[in-house]
Amino acid sequence: MSFPAYKGCCKDAVKGEDMYEQGWLEHWSEQFQSPFYVLDDKRLVDNYQRMERAFSSRYDRLIIAYSYKTNYLPHLCRKLHELGAYAEVVSRLEYDLAQSFGVQPKQIVFNGPLKREEDIILALDGEAIVNLDSFSEIPSVIRYAKRHGQKEVKIGLRVNFDLSVNGESPLQNGYEVSRFGFCVENGNFERAIRELSQSPNIRVVGLHGHFSTNRSLGVYEQITQELCFLAREYLKGSLEYIDVGGGMYGELPASFGNKIAPSYEDYAEMITAVMKKELLPYGLHPVLIVEPGISLVADAVHFACRVVDVKENRGVRFVLVDGSVHNVKPTMHKHPLPVELITAREDDHDPVGTYHVVGYTCMEKDYLVENGRGRLPQPGDFLVFGHVGAYTIVFQPPFIQARPPIIAFGPRGVVVAREKETLDQFCPEPSYQFTPFRE
Ligand SMILES: *Cc1c(COP(=O)(O)O)cnc(C)c1O
Repeated sequence: MSFPAYKGCCKDAVKGEDMYEQGWLEHWSEQFQSPFYVLDDKRLVDNYQRMERAFSSRYDRLIIAYSYKTNYLPHLCRKLHELGAYAEVVSRLEYDLAQSFGVQPKQIVFNGPLKREEDIILALDGEAIVNLDSFSEIPSVIRYAKRHGQKEVKIGLRVNFDLSVNGESPLQNGYEVSRFGFCVENGNFERAIRELSQSPNIRVVGLHGHFSTNRSLGVYEQITQELCFLAREYLKGSLEYIDVGGGMYGELPASFGNKIAPSYEDYAEMITAVMKKELLPYGLHPVLIVEPGISLVADAVHFACRVVDVKENRGVRFVLVDGSVHNVKPTMHKHPLPVELITAREDDHDPVGTYHVVGYTCMEKDYLVENGRGRLPQPGDFLVFGHVGAYTIVFQPPFIQARPPIIAFGPRGVVVAREKETLDQFCPEPSYQFTPFRE
């Protein structure tokens, strides 16, 4: 790996020009601090619009529900809602967050393994799209339906089925069996439908099939096919939507190796072709729901940090920066991130070598770059990491340092999307209310 091979991670989404130069980064690190994140609004909008076109040009009934947990930065969610995205939430807290951004309950898809009765009541009252995950949720829905005898209560089910091909599971981390949803093979799915249909005013209207997989086209073909098959078999008179979940790839950086990821168009073609073939001839024309997270936001966020020191310990070179691996890949995934060296120095004369880029924490494993090769960074230079929009900003404990500020870079200028944290935000003091033990 060498830095030149990584170059181009931070190109303007429209003009294709390099986005960063030393002076600009210098300015913003003086305004706030270094390190900081940059959200590229144009890239975000472009991703959304391309995905929307890819699907809606092939299938006319579409909902794109953005997966909040991937990155619920208010600026980012609001931008996607302006473009027409629904909110896909997996907790009551995220549900409330979506509402606080002005999203109508009808435009919320409520998933996730933990929904309490009060959450289910709230969502059904608001007519959100609710997908149940396990049997413990069913009594809440039945009680709700009983209390609202005049109301048609619509519900969806998350489905679980075997995706392995020739004994090989496509699930992430090598899991053989997913923990989510109602299992088809052991009859649980059928039982759930039966239990719900005991209530005359409950209708199972949708099926949800999100899986964390290798993101291949073949897997989407399998998922869509199985959902369509189950819909025909069990929901013929009531089907309103097929929800294939998220888990697609966006554009991959060169640093991830020469992996060719399917494009939005490829996914859209595969999924909608199956829908058209397996449902339309049977008189079924449901809404297609997709729940993208990573594929919309990963490449829309960059992280800028500053080189503080370069040292050598017994022949091994360490470049210390004021950021941490927690800022760029808190999930500790194995892929080397794209990174650019931004410096005001002329090239050519710098020494070239091998080095690790390490962060501010006291942990040995705090590596932002392992075995980088190329032009040696110098104190005062900036490193800008690309592809850090997903499962980073929301996945990061305030550990040792405050969470970095975020600026959003739009076509007409820059807005602060998250301020630099204060000491109290970093570590809030409780009010220390005293409660005596009960007698
Ligand atoms: C996490 C999640 C998504 C988004 O997944 P990505 O891999 O980020 O696209 C969508 N739906 C559900 C139910 C999820 O849990």
